[in-house]
Amino acid sequence: MINDRYGHSAGDEFLKLISAQLKGCLREGDTLARIGGDEFVAVLDELNDPSESHIILSRMLKAAAAELQVFNHQLQVSASIGVTFYPENNGSADQLLRYADQAMYSAKQLGKNRWHVFDIDKDVAVKHKHEELERLRLALENDEYVLFYQPKINLKDNKLTGFEALIRWDHPDKGILAPFYFLPVLENDVLGIEIGNWVIKTALEQMKDWWDTPLDVPISVNISPMHLQHPDFVSNLKAILAQYPNYRSNTLEFEILESSALKDIDLITDIIHQCNKLGVIFSIDDFGTGYSSLTYLKKLPTKYLKIDQSFVKDMMIDTDNKVIIQGIIELSKAFNLDVIAEGVETPAHAEALLLLGCYLAQGYGIARPMMASSVSKWHNLWLENPVLIDGS
Ligand code: C2E
Ligand code: CA
Ligand code: CA
Repeated sequence: MINDRYGHSAGDEFLKLISAQLKGCLREGDTLARIGGDEFVAVLDELNDPSESHIILSRMLKAAAAELQVFNHQLQVSASIGVTFYPENNGSADQLLRYADQAMYSAKQLGKNRWHVFDIDKDVAVKHKHEELERLRLALENDEYVLFYQPKINLKDNKLTGFEALIRWDHPDKGILAPFYFLPVLENDVLGIEIGNWVIKTALEQMKDWWDTPLDVPISVNISPMHLQHPDFVSNLKAILAQYPNYRSNTLEFEILESSALKDIDLITDIIHQCNKLGVIFSIDDFGTGYSSLTYLKKLPTKYLKIDQSFVKDMMIDTDNKVIIQGIIELSKAFNLDVIAEGVETPAHAEALLLLGCYLAQGYGIARPMMASSVSKWHNLWLENPVLIDGS
């Protein structure tokens, strides 16, 4: 920044001054070296105890943050220091430098102008996560994410009633990757929100493509808890929808996890109400796993309950699960919600669900999630011969 703003000779001058400052903090016998553009290494010799370094480290931070005068400019920077101790952290000189480097990275992450002692488990994890996030951001920039679509049908007449959009990463080397490989990394990062908005836009774009075709049905997208609770969620949604003047109310659906719906019920209820006003409806995903109380359920303005696939999967053999499904169906009636089953893998599942009074279904027995370009072909075949297969 100094080079860019004041020229390289100012940058060089500044480096000389700050080196002198740092050198002044060290004892005789210690070593200071500049190893990169703005990176220094200090070797503190002969410490009786790691804690003896603290006073030197504090001095260095202070020295680095001093205001320095360079060619009539008052310049000030801050330092982030990564620390590793030998022999506590055993390794070659090279390894020790790497440890210190990772600790420095953590010091930056923790807010700069501080020192951080290397912790093998934590620091490697932090650095690794940072690199993964960078790669996932690049994937967004390079347009490597795709949405797959999985149909939902009504078991009574086998009509297509909607699609769930499911994200995939079309990795240049590894091919199509399921969300399991990358969503967990995004959990608490703003990048997750950016990707979430990309998902909403892409689903709307897809709906536009399918307008006035036999595939013109609602599309649901999954919304992460952090995205849903972000203060700008509703205004962002409004801005996105404004780009689709022909958007028809209630054709975009959001699936939220039961566990996230329960977090802050008043806030979530308010967000759902506001989205409803914009013509977007909600379902509670993975229902049955989050211990919703009846009061909560009554409060939440959602349209669908989505029975978690773990109950559906072995409902024919596990009577407990069958009873749970029955309970959910009764509950949905009482609260005037529609119920949909996921994980419908075989014709036997469909039959059992029909008997219980659950008509909406999604699962491998109908179709696996597929690329948008394959959907029309699948639907034509389905229209010709609408029977479930054994997809388990
Ligand atoms: P989910 O919302 O519960 O989605 C259903 C998952 O079950 C999908 O896995 C789907 O491929 C799979 N599935 C569908 N039918 C069957 C079946 O009959 N049997 C079995 N065994 N599995 C079936 P997928 O696509 O790997 O997605 C996993 C999870 O990742 C999703 O679970 C959802 O929580 C999350 N996810 C997917 N796309 C997005 C997204 O765009 N945004 C966010 N925030 N989360 C997403
Ligand atoms: Ca879902
Ligand atoms: Ca689910």
